[in-house]
Amino acid sequence: MLRQALLWASTNPMLAERLPRYGFVRRATRRFMPGERLEDATEAAAKLGTSGIASTLTLLGENLRSESEADEVLAHYREVLAAVQRKGVDAEISVKPTQLGLDFGAAGTHDRLAGLVRAAKSIVWIDMEGSKYVDDTLEIYRSLRAASVNLGVCLQAYLHRTDADLEALLPLDPSIRIVKGAYQEPAAVAMPKKADVDRSFVRLTSRLLRARALGGTGRPVIATHDPRMIAESGRLAVELGLAKGTFEYALLYGIARAEQQRLARNGHRVRVLISYGAAWFPWYMRRLAERPANLWFVAKQMAG
Ligand SMILES: Cc1cc2nc3c(=O)[nH]c(=O)nc-3n(C[C@H](O)[C@H](O)[C@H](O)COP(=O)(O)OP(=O)(O)OC[C@H]3O[C@@H](n4cnc5c(N)ncnc54)[C@H](O)[C@@H]3O)c2cc1C
Repeated sequence: MLRQALLWASTNPMLAERLPRYGFVRRATRRFMPGERLEDATEAAAKLGTSGIASTLTLLGENLRSESEADEVLAHYREVLAAVQRKGVDAEISVKPTQLGLDFGAAGTHDRLAGLVRAAKSIVWIDMEGSKYVDDTLEIYRSLRAASVNLGVCLQAYLHRTDADLEALLPLDPSIRIVKGAYQEPAAVAMPKKADVDRSFVRLTSRLLRARALGGTGRPVIATHDPRMIAESGRLAVELGLAKGTFEYALLYGIARAEQQRLARNGHRVRVLISYGAAWFPWYMRRLAERPANLWFVAKQMAG
C-alpha cells in the first residue's frame, strides 16, 4: 500500500511542483544526492574515488515539455563529460532517453546520444524507463552499438520480456546493467511478486556473466543493493573463473554505503550512481518506495 502511494506520488505533478519548495523536504534528500549542482556530484565522485569507487553521473529530470529542452540536456551532458575529463574523476554518465527527447521521436534521441558517445572517453549508459519506452530504447541502443562499443544499456528484471531482450542483445557483445526495475507497471508487463523479480535478476545476471566467461568483452553490471543478489553473482563469477575486474557492481549514492566499501576493499569494480539536479522529486519518491523504512529517515531529517 505504502509503496503504491509513494509510486503514485512520484507521478503527481502538483506534489512535484510544491513539496521541493520546502527547505526541510530538500534537506531530507541529502542522504541520496550530494546536491543539486554538477559540482556537488563531481566532488562526491572525487571523494568516492579515494576509496577506489568509480561513479556514474545522472541529471535528474524526466519527460520534457518541448524538444528544445532535449538540446539543453544534451549541452549539459557535454559539459559533464568535459568536467569529468578536466577534473580527472573516474566517472561515466547515464542518460534517460526521455530527457534526450524520446517523447518527440526516436530519431532525435538517437542523434543526441550519438553526439554524447562521440564526446565520451568511456561508456555512456542508457537508463531504462517505463515499459512503453523499452522498444525504442533498445532499437536506439542496437543502432548506436553498431558504431561504438562505448555504449551500455540498462535492462529491468521485473519485465516479463527481459529474458528475450537479453538473448537478442547478446550477439552484439553488449555492456548491460541489470536492475530489478523501479517504475509502476501493470502485472501484464512486470512481475508483481518480489520473489519472481529476484529469481529473474539472478537468471539474467547469471546469463550475462556466462556470456562474459565465454569470451564476451562487454561489461556486465550487477546493479543492486540486495546482499543475496550480490553474493549469488560473486559466487557464480568465482565458479566461472571470472577475474574480479571483468564485471562491475553498481549501487546508488548513499545506499548500502558499507557494502560499497566492502566490495571495493575486496578488489571488486564498484561504481556508484550519483544523481543530481533540481528535478529530483519523482526520482526521490521511487527511492522511498523501494524501501518505505526510509520514511523514518525522512521524518528524522524533518524533525532535526
Ligand atoms: C546503479 C543503478 C542504476 C539503476 N538504473 C535504473 C534504471 O535505469 N531503470 C530502473 O528502472 N531502475 C534503475 N535502478 C533502480 C532499480 O531498478 C531498483 O529499483 C533499486 O536498485 C532497488 O532494488 P535493489 O536491487 O536494491 O533490491 P531491493 O530488493 O529493492 O532491495 C534490497 C535491499 O537493498 C536495500 N535497499 C534497496 N533500495 C533501497 C533504498 N532506496 N534505500 C535504502 N536501502 C535500500 C535494502 O536493504 C533492501 O532490503 C538502478 C539502480 C542502481 C543501483
